[in-house]
Order: sequence, then C-alpha cells, then structure tokens
Amino acid sequence: MSALSKILRNWRNPDNGDEGLTFFCPGCGDHHSIRTKGATAWGWNGDVEKPTFTPSVLVRSGHYVPGRDKDGCWCTYNAEREAKGEKPSKFKCEVCHSFVKDGQMQFLSDCTHALAGQTVPLPEWTEDGT
Ligand SMILES: [Zn+2]
Ligand SMILES: [Zn+2]
Repeated sequence: MSALSKILRNWRNPDNGDEGLTFFCPGCGDHHSIRTKGATAWGWNGDVEKPTFTPSVLVRSGHYVPGRDKDGCWCTYNAEREAKGEKPSKFKCEVCHSFVKDGQMQFLSDCTHALAGQTVPLPEWTEDGT
C-alpha cells in the first residue's frame, strides 16, 4: 500500500489486478477498503483529499453477515473470554454503513457503533485503533 494523502492509501492485488483504496473509519476504529478497479468496483471522484465514493460503504462483521452460521460470533467469543476472567478481544460484531462524500463520512442510522447518524471528516491515517 502507498499513501495517496493523509487519509487515503491505495493498493493493488497482483493476483487479479484489482485496485482499491483503504481509509480509517473512526466509527469502527479500524480500516475499511473499497475496490476501485475490478468486479463490483466503487465509483471514486479521484480526489485524494476530499474523496467521494459511490455507492455507500457497508461493512458487516460477525453475526450481522447475512447467511452466517448462528453458532459462535465475536459476541459469544468475547462472552466466553469474560466468563474465564480474560479480557474480551478487540473484535466486535458490527454494522458500519456510510456515505463518503467530499471527505466526510455520513454514518447512517443502521450503524451499530457510537457514530451512527453523525457526519465526521475522514481522519488522518492511523495504523490501528488505539
Ligand atoms: Zn466503519
Ligand atoms: Zn455477535
């Protein structure tokens, strides 16, 4: 990956030639990636400072993934750890749904994180959520 700006990095998959962008999501405290070249690519306005992606970016993990097996997800994994007196992992079952427009993330109300319904600027790149 290489840095395009303070907020965006780009990547290329040498196996299939797909290209894409990765940014840090302040709602999830983690990175999201979109494909800009290849099958089911997103539209990108080419702006590295104030990017706009179309359509919306929807990220689901754990038991929110459609069709996922109901036995065991991050909720049960973390509950088991806590039952054993261990710290829960940093992974959570989440939905993150946003429109990225002019460098702003407009989080929709179906997000499970604290920024649901809010609009915040894309933050500077962070390696992890800590
Ligand atoms: Zn997110
Ligand atoms: Zn879960």
